[in-house]
Amino acid sequence: MKHYAAIVNGKPLRVGSDFPVFNPATGEEIGRAPNMSSAELDVAVSAAKAAFASWSSQSDAALQAACAAVTAEIGAHSAELAELITLEQGKPLNGLGSRWEMGGAVAWAGYTSGLSMPKKILQDNEQGRVELHRKPLGVVGSITPWNFPVMIAIWHIMPALRTGNTVVIKPSPYTPLSTLRLIEIMNRVLPAGVVNVVTGDDQNVNLGGAMSAHPDIRKIVFTGSCATGQKVMQSAAETMKRLTLELGGNDAGIVLPDADPEKIAEGLFWGAFLNNGQTCAAMKRLYVHDSIHDAVCDALVAYAKNIPVGNGLDEASMLGPIQNRMQFDKVSRLVADAKGKGKVLLGGKPGEGLFFPPTLVSGLRNGDALVDEEQFGPVLPIIRYSDLDEAIRMANDSPNGLGGSVWSSDKAKARSVAARLECGSVWINKHGAIQPNAPFGGVKASGIGVEFSEEGLAEYTDIQVVFV
Ligand code: NAD
Repeated sequence: MKHYAAIVNGKPLRVGSDFPVFNPATGEEIGRAPNMSSAELDVAVSAAKAAFASWSSQSDAALQAACAAVTAEIGAHSAELAELITLEQGKPLNGLGSRWEMGGAVAWAGYTSGLSMPKKILQDNEQGRVELHRKPLGVVGSITPWNFPVMIAIWHIMPALRTGNTVVIKPSPYTPLSTLRLIEIMNRVLPAGVVNVVTGDDQNVNLGGAMSAHPDIRKIVFTGSCATGQKVMQSAAETMKRLTLELGGNDAGIVLPDADPEKIAEGLFWGAFLNNGQTCAAMKRLYVHDSIHDAVCDALVAYAKNIPVGNGLDEASMLGPIQNRMQFDKVSRLVADAKGKGKVLLGGKPGEGLFFPPTLVSGLRNGDALVDEEQFGPVLPIIRYSDLDEAIRMANDSPNGLGGSVWSSDKAKARSVAARLECGSVWINKHGAIQPNAPFGGVKASGIGVEFSEEGLAEYTDIQVVFV
C-alpha cells in the first residue's frame, strides 16, 4: 500500500499515523494519507511563514517566471495526476473526467501565472501623487472539497503564489492523495516552505477549523459546503482573516417556450450531470415551459439513457460512481422522497456499491426536498411552469445564488430573463461553463468574494495607498 507523505518545508514530514483512502468504484484501499495533529499543522504554518519574506520580496517578473515553472511541472505530470484523481475521486479518465480536470488545472495555472497587478496612479498633479499598491498578505490557508481535488487546489494556490503569498493547503479526507502528490510535484521547482500540504481524517482533529482560527494564517480560501463555510467564517473572525468562500449552489435552469428540445438536450444533460452532478455550479433544478415540457423530458431521457456509467479507469465510462457513502445516502434519500411526489422518467434505483444511474424526475415543485436541497449528485428535478414571472420567482426562491441559465432561441429574450436571476454567473443555452478570465463566485449564501481573473487575484492582496 502506498503511503503518501505530507510535504512541509520542501520535504516529507514524518507523521505518527495515517488513514486509508478508498476507490469509490471498487471500495478498495488505494493509498494512505498522513493523519496530522494541530502541532503538525503549526509546523507547516511556521514553514510557510518563514518562506514568506524571501518569496514575497522577489520582483514581479521573478514571481511570474516561478509560477510558469510550476505550471510546466504540473503539465509534465498531468497523466499521472489524472489517474490518481480517477482512483480516489471516481470520475472517468475519459470525457469530461480527470484528464479534462487536469487540462483545466494546467490552463488555469498558466493563465494565472500571466496575470499581473501593476500599481495604479490615482492622482498625479500639483496637489500631489497618490498610488495604489497591492501587497501580499502572508500565509494563505486553502481548504478544498472532494469533487475536483486538483483543479480547485490550483484555483486556490496559483493566485496566492502569483501575488507573493505562501500556502498551506488541506484537501478533503476523501481525496487527499492527488493533492499530496501535486504539492510534491510543485516543490520540485519551488523554494522550501512556499507551498505546504497537511491532511487529516477529520475524526479527532479538526484541521480545517484549526486553520481558520490560526493566528499566523492571514487568509482562508475555502471551497465546500455552506454549513462548513459558515463555521470557517465564525472561527476566522477573531483574527480578522481575509476570506474567499466558494460555497454550495442550487442552480436553476429555465427553458423558455421557444427553445428547441432536441438542440438543447445535450447541453442540459451535461450542465446538470458534469462530474455526476457533483459540481458546485451544476444545474440542480430545471424549470420547463408547459408547451415544451414533455418534449424536453423525452429529449433528455433519450440522451441520458445512452451515457455509459462505470469504473472510471474504463475508457468507455462517461460517468463514474458517487464519491462517498455520505453523498450516496443523501442522493438516495432525496430520490426516495421524490418518488412519492413526482414521476421518475429515468434511473431512480441505486446500483452496486456507490453507483447511481443518471436520474430524471418530473412533476416536482418548489417545496419538495429534491428541488429545495442541493442534491450534489446524478439526479435532476424537472419542474413545469406556465408563467415566466412565476418561473423566475421559483428560480430565485433559494438561499443560494451561485449560477443560473436560460435556454431559448431568442438571445434578447434570454438576456432579459438572465438579468432577473439572483446568481453570480448566468449562462444562455449552456450551464456551468467557467473560464480563467471571468470572475466566478456566488451571491447570497453561495459565498463571499470571487476567484479567477484580476478580480480574483486582488483577493490575495491588501491595498496600500501611498500619498507622495
Ligand atoms: P465540506 O464543507 O464538507 O468540506 C470541505 C472541506 O472543509 C474539506 O476539506 C473538509 O475537511 C473541511 N472541513 C470540515 N470541517 C471543517 C471546519 N469545521 N472548518 C474548516 N474546514 C472544515 O464540503 P464537501 O462535501 O467536500 O464539498 C461539497 C460542497 O462543496 C457542495 O456544497 C458544493 O456545492 C460545494 N462546492 C462549491 C464550489 C464553489 O466554487 N462554489 C466548488 C466545489 C464545491
